[in-house]
Amino acid sequence: MKIYNSKTRKKEDFQPIEEGKVRMYVCGPTVYDNIHIGNARTFISFDVIRRWLIASGYEVTFAQNLTDVDDKIINRANEQGRTAEEVASEFSDKFIAVMHKANVMDPDVRPRATKEIGPMIGMIKSLIEQGHAYAADNGDVYFAVRSDPSYGEVSGRKIDDLMVGARIEENEDKNDPLDFALWKAAKPGEPMWNSPWGKGRPGWHTECAAMVHRYLGTPIDIHGGGSDLAFPHHENECAQATCAWHEGFANTWMHTGMLLVDGEKMSKSLGNFFTLEEVLEKHSAAALRLLMLQTHYRSPLDFSWERLEGAENSLARIAGTVNNLVWAARHSEDEPDAELAAKLNAAVDDAKAEFEAQMDDDFNTAGAVAAYFQLVTEANTYLDQAGSAADKDAAIGAAASIAGAFKVLGIELPEPEEELPVGLLGVAAGLCAYTGDDVNEAAERILAARAEARAAKDWGTADAIRDQLRDMGLAIEDTAAGSRIKHL
Ligand SMILES: [Zn+2]
Repeated sequence: MKIYNSKTRKKEDFQPIEEGKVRMYVCGPTVYDNIHIGNARTFISFDVIRRWLIASGYEVTFAQNLTDVDDKIINRANEQGRTAEEVASEFSDKFIAVMHKANVMDPDVRPRATKEIGPMIGMIKSLIEQGHAYAADNGDVYFAVRSDPSYGEVSGRKIDDLMVGARIEENEDKNDPLDFALWKAAKPGEPMWNSPWGKGRPGWHTECAAMVHRYLGTPIDIHGGGSDLAFPHHENECAQATCAWHEGFANTWMHTGMLLVDGEKMSKSLGNFFTLEEVLEKHSAAALRLLMLQTHYRSPLDFSWERLEGAENSLARIAGTVNNLVWAARHSEDEPDAELAAKLNAAVDDAKAEFEAQMDDDFNTAGAVAAYFQLVTEANTYLDQAGSAADKDAAIGAAASIAGAFKVLGIELPEPEEELPVGLLGVAAGLCAYTGDDVNEAAERILAARAEARAAKDWGTADAIRDQLRDMGLAIEDTAAGSRIKHL
C-alpha cells in the first residue's frame, strides 16, 4: 500500500510501526457551530481511509478530539448569552449525530479538550523544564519556536521565511513573534482551570499533542486533517510532541484538499455555504459520499447540487443493476449460458483487482469507483444477453461484489424494492379467482393473466390490469428475463 506523505511530499510504501496495527489521529472540530461540507469532506475521507485499512486486515485504532474550549466557542457563547459549556455541549452532540447520519464510523477514542487539562499541563511543564517553553509575565505560556531545530518540517516551511511573513504583533510578552501560546491566562467570564502559571486555559495546538501521546502513544502511524491545518496547527502539534517526548510524532501526515462550490471558495458572504446537516436533509449520505469519493482526497473537490443529483442517479442505477441481477438469478428458467457467465465472472474479478489496486495507491477512490461503474455496465450487458438463461451463481456473485465494494467505501446502496402490497391479492382474486394469501404468487398470476390477454390481443383487459396497478402505485416492467411488478 502506498500513501502520500505530505511531510516528505512523496508517495511512500506504508510500513506501520507495529506489524498489522495502525494508530491514527485526525483533528476533530471546534464545536461552536454546525460543520460545513468542507469539514465533512475531511471526516468522510478519513473514514474511508480507515475503512480501507481495516478491510486490508489492519487493526486500526482511531482517535479524534473534540475542541470544546476555544475563542470561537467563547465568542459564540457571549453573542448568545449562554455559557461556553452550553454551546460546546450542543454542538458536540450535533456533530456526533450528523457524523452518524453521514455513515462515518465513531472513533475508538474521542477525547475532549476540557477533560484533558491535566495531561496538557504536564506536557507544558515538561517543555518549560527542557527549555522549549517559557511563562510570560501576563500568565501566558509560549512555545519557543526557535528551540526546535525541526520546526517547519511538517508543512515544508523555513523559519526565516516565516519570520518575513510573521505579523508584528502588539503582544510584547512573547520573546519572538513566531512563538505560539501553549497556555492562555484567563480573562474574566471565560472558562478557566488552575495551573502552575495561574488560572487559564490551554491553547488549541496543545490538546492534540497531549491526546495523541496519552491515547495512542508517540509516534503514531498516520496523522490527518484538512490541508488548512498543516500550518500552523500540525506544525505546532508536532513541535510540542517531539520536544516533550523525543520519540517522533507521526510517521505519515495526510491532508485532504479543499472543497469548492460551483468552482468557487465556499463562504457565507457568497451565499454558497452549506452545512452537512442541510445537505443530508435533501440527499442521502450515500450520494454525498459517492460524489466526494469520485475525486481523489488530495485534489480540490467541486461540489454542486447538480453533481449531487447526478450521484443520486448513479446510485439508483447501480442499485437497479444489483436488484436485476438478484431477480434474474431467482427467475431465470432456461439452461444457463456458460460462456456469458464466464465472461461476467471474469469482469467481476477484474473489477475487484482494479478496486484494490486503486485503493492501495494512496486511496484512489475515484479509480476504485470507476472500476465498479465499469462492472455495472458489463452486468447490464450480461442481463440483456443472458435473458432467461442467466447463471444463478454468476449473477449473485456480481451483485454481491458490487454491493460489497460500495459498502467498503461506506456507501449503502438504496434498499432493494419494497414488498409488494397485499392489495394485489384482491386484484388477483378478481382477475383469475386466486384465493391464496401469497402476494408474490398473486403478482405472478396477474402477470400471467396480462400475458394471456396480450397474446389474445385483448388490449382492453391488458390496459385495465395496467391501470388497476397504477392506481396502487405499481407498474409492470418488461425485462429481457421476463416481466415483473414493481413500485412506481
Ligand atoms: Zn489537531
